[in-house]
Amino acid sequence: MRLVVNTSTGAIAQRLDYDEFGNTVVDTAPGFQPFQYAGGLRDIDTGMVRFGARDYDARVGRWTAKDALRFEGGLANLYVYAGSDPVNNADPSGLYITPTHQEILHDAFGGRVSPTDLAILLRANHDIDWAPGAQALWNQYKHGLHTPAQSIPVTRELFSSFVARQLNQAVALEKRGCHEEAVYELGLGMHSLADTFSPAHEGFSEYGGFWQNTGHIGLDLIGAFTYEASGPEAALTVRAYYQVFLARTR
Ligand SMILES: [Zn+2]
Repeated sequence: MRLVVNTSTGAIAQRLDYDEFGNTVVDTAPGFQPFQYAGGLRDIDTGMVRFGARDYDARVGRWTAKDALRFEGGLANLYVYAGSDPVNNADPSGLYITPTHQEILHDAFGGRVSPTDLAILLRANHDIDWAPGAQALWNQYKHGLHTPAQSIPVTRELFSSFVARQLNQAVALEKRGCHEEAVYELGLGMHSLADTFSPAHEGFSEYGGFWQNTGHIGLDLIGAFTYEASGPEAALTVRAYYQVFLARTR
């Protein structure tokens, strides 16, 4: 079950219940916000849940595109969602290093938004990785990682709430005429969405600090070279996020 809470009033705005394969059983406010099962981004046109590098079709319990990370997944049937154990193995994946994020943003928005807006997105993307405290344990959910003290479901919920909150804040700012601030807030959310595409942190893997769990850092570096495999899909997803923003501020 997922509850979407109005952060200003504390009221429950939407309740979503799923069966274990992500079919929506109860939705008290269809279309209220675009985030669905395990934080996937719903494609309003097809009804699919966009999720990292693949779309997940809950009706049949399968991914609809081949796993972009073939060498990482280790699954005999690459179309089967999270090894057919979706409750324990939700499967967005990891973190990219900064140049890969930049490439994703250029791919997604170069020539589509003003150079000023693109610069703001790049600045937000940099800040969320490099500002003081950016990589503190309590901020790891923003990078698609869980800490030793956080369960994966809790982390996933923090992640989903963060990405949705950034979108909501951006919409509110844009409607008040604060366009640059709105784009900045969107840029923070886009970074988190993009992080879930890296091969490094599949399934919100654990990060215990710079000197613990350092394996992911090497994988992140390798991730920089896998842009061709997963970067274009990340670009599509951050662009979809931006299109939701445009639809809500039109
Ligand atoms: Zn990050």
